Amino acid sequence: MKINQKEITQVGHGSPMIINWELVSHCQFKCSYCYYDPFESNTDYESLQKIIQKKISNIDQPFVINLIGGEPTLHPNFSKIVSFLQDLEKCTEIRIVTNLAKPIHFWDSISSTKIVLTASYHPEYDNGKFFEKINQLYEKFDSDVPFLVPNSLIHLPRMKKTLENLLNIDSPRSPTINIIRPHYKSGYSVSFEQYPEEIELFIKEATTIISKNENQEKIKVYSKNKEIEMAKSTFFDLNMHYLKGWKCNINAFIIHYNGYVSSACRNDKKHIITAKFKSTPLICPYQACECDDFWNFEKYRNANE
Ligand code: SF4
Ligand code: SF4
Repeated sequence: MKINQKEITQVGHGSPMIINWELVSHCQFKCSYCYYDPFESNTDYESLQKIIQKKISNIDQPFVINLIGGEPTLHPNFSKIVSFLQDLEKCTEIRIVTNLAKPIHFWDSISSTKIVLTASYHPEYDNGKFFEKINQLYEKFDSDVPFLVPNSLIHLPRMKKTLENLLNIDSPRSPTINIIRPHYKSGYSVSFEQYPEEIELFIKEATTIISKNENQEKIKVYSKNKEIEMAKSTFFDLNMHYLKGWKCNINAFIIHYNGYVSSACRNDKKHIITAKFKSTPLICPYQACECDDFWNFEKYRNANE
């Protein structure tokens, strides 16, 4: 069933709270398109970890936690943090957002039924090991691959090879793949790279193949009398993520590497000791909603709904 973009009144059908915990501020890579720009900080990560764990133990609603960075696996107590979250009843899912640079044996000591491995593919640092590692890990963890496409033809052959390898995994547990265009953000506006034709063609072909996979991530959109579940890649291609002015029931927080907490999409910051993990709806100030994790929070075209 098709839906006309202008008829859409609601996007997303609700999501548990999301907490993005920046475990560290540094990273082994220095990707040209990195929006974070990793750096070494003076934070005492082990002391801060104890305070954060105590605080999130008191959250009284179910939540999903994204372990991010920098590169989260560089935290000195990474496996202990995962064990703590495994035992925390309200934490329903632990998403590890990693560049997969750690050697494969690092993952032997990590075990949890709640893990989703979000293993980002960075072609600028592809030494041939990325696919080898994901190929050994996808049976152990639910996994997805954000596949970054930088603006350089030098990387195109290895991007094609890696994508082909990923698509050839023949298993019900094969990782979900999302093709990602790096973006620039200034103030409330977002712009995307202009690519040469060969890279545009690669993205188009990759997206077409991936959109036929059954395990692709989906999102619900609604008109007054229709409800459609569509692939996130289709939602993006149709520019449905341009949601400025919509009422958004976002319920997401970032715990920064230095112990400050901010609400997603708001310009506020409080120290973890005084922060409250409570949110209220807001009118979207951004041109584009570029974090697909947030698409499932309900958004309404009419601010009164
Ligand atoms: S791996 Fe991620 S955090 Fe590290 S430099 Fe690349 S984009 Fe930035
Ligand atoms: S950018 Fe933030 S406020 Fe805007 S729609 Fe997305 S999640 Fe909601």
